Amino acid sequence: MKFGGTSMGSADAIKQVASIILENAQQGHRVVSVVSAMAGVTDTLIRSARDAEQGNVATYKQAAAQLHQRHVETVRALVSAANRRESLIDEIRSLLDDFEQLCHSISIMREVTPRGMDVVSSLGERLSCRLLSAHLQDLGYDSQAFDSNYLVVTNDNFQNATPDMDATREKVQTKILPAVESGLLPIITGFIGATPNGTITTLGRGGSDYSGGIIAAALPSDELWIWSDVDGVMTTDPRITPQARTIATLSYGEVSEMAYFGAKVLHPRTILPVMDMGMPIRVLNTFNPTHPGTLLRPEPEIVPGTIKAITTVQDVHLVTVYGRGMVGVPGIAGRTFTAVARAGASMLMFAQSSSEQSFCFVVPGSTSQKVKKAIERELALEIERKDVGGVDIAEEVVIVTTVGAGMRGTPGVAARIFGALGQHNINVLVIAQGASEYSVSMVVDKKDAVQAVQVLHDLVSNGKSRG
Ligand code: ASP
Ligand code: MG
Repeated sequence: MKFGGTSMGSADAIKQVASIILENAQQGHRVVSVVSAMAGVTDTLIRSARDAEQGNVATYKQAAAQLHQRHVETVRALVSAANRRESLIDEIRSLLDDFEQLCHSISIMREVTPRGMDVVSSLGERLSCRLLSAHLQDLGYDSQAFDSNYLVVTNDNFQNATPDMDATREKVQTKILPAVESGLLPIITGFIGATPNGTITTLGRGGSDYSGGIIAAALPSDELWIWSDVDGVMTTDPRITPQARTIATLSYGEVSEMAYFGAKVLHPRTILPVMDMGMPIRVLNTFNPTHPGTLLRPEPEIVPGTIKAITTVQDVHLVTVYGRGMVGVPGIAGRTFTAVARAGASMLMFAQSSSEQSFCFVVPGSTSQKVKKAIERELALEIERKDVGGVDIAEEVVIVTTVGAGMRGTPGVAARIFGALGQHNINVLVIAQGASEYSVSMVVDKKDAVQAVQVLHDLVSNGKSRG
């Protein structure tokens, strides 16, 4: 089971987490838990390190005091046995002393390296994991906190490390399996790993989900349950459409497509370690634990023609490269892609019409000016010759994506999508369908985005269907 930041966010939430673990343990399940930092803590740690880099000492000192107060208050609410409580408070003190010292050196060197940032940002999970474990002990159960830098072996790609599954499996099976088999409840930090020589790494923001996948695969467990604060994966963002509802079943492919196209469901890499095993994943709500949530499976039954979810990606810009002289000239798209890559931007969507007079693609908004300059440099000669007219940036756009494996090989789905948008006078600027046929994405004007989602949501199959 993996518990997210909100689930670990207060003493009451942690009590609720403990009761979920215990209830399942009492039903005979052997439960291994992976936890996030208390909500907001990782943000605070990272902000403090960044401020220290600017020479600002006040921020981290204040942050250390606030983090100390929050964690100690939580301990007081969770742990009644005096000696256990005091030794945990000592541990919190010592972890936060480390934090202050790290920020102090950052402020002197005026630099925070990716490696240093990983040590700082790992502190949130190291704190939260001890709170839950101590609470379980306080309730009379055998539990132990584990720092996953001793379990998850990764490469040295700091801030976005990738696990070595063979090395990780060996550690997890020697340290965690025997503990579980003896009836202990292990609580493991999410987010954190270490290189083979022991240097702390992290798996990227939101990476505790991924830790859940890694630990589940390494044990291996029968299932992976991801506990957050919503009733599973929703058909769309409920803040946009109140009709949004829980999706009963999704395939790995569908959920990956949703994560890629903006749904904040799961860290996109979560399913990678468990995929080959076909391990079922459940997405559940800590604060509504009897709700069945969403079941993720390798290949659920597909109901042809069904659209399962609508997602959006905001803060993107649409880049168009146009010119009459591009017709039949090979290599312009290739060189443009290379220029985009050199600018360090990732391309979310690409489309070209067969007239070849223009092509366009979508990049994160923060990168579009850099991308434009890189392309103009690459195509300078063609621009001078007027074969390429120029590079346009449209800023007020949103990507809207419909997701569903049932769209695959089913004629008429696109007609329904564009028919519905047309009836509401919503102009579609760009269309792209992935070769997986799991999704159809379009770019619309920002002012139309909310309505587009609402209109498309009406097409989402009214599925009590388990498809
Ligand atoms: N605490 C980390 C973060 O906020 C990891 C996680 O919560 O998944 O990014
Ligand atoms: Mg989180």
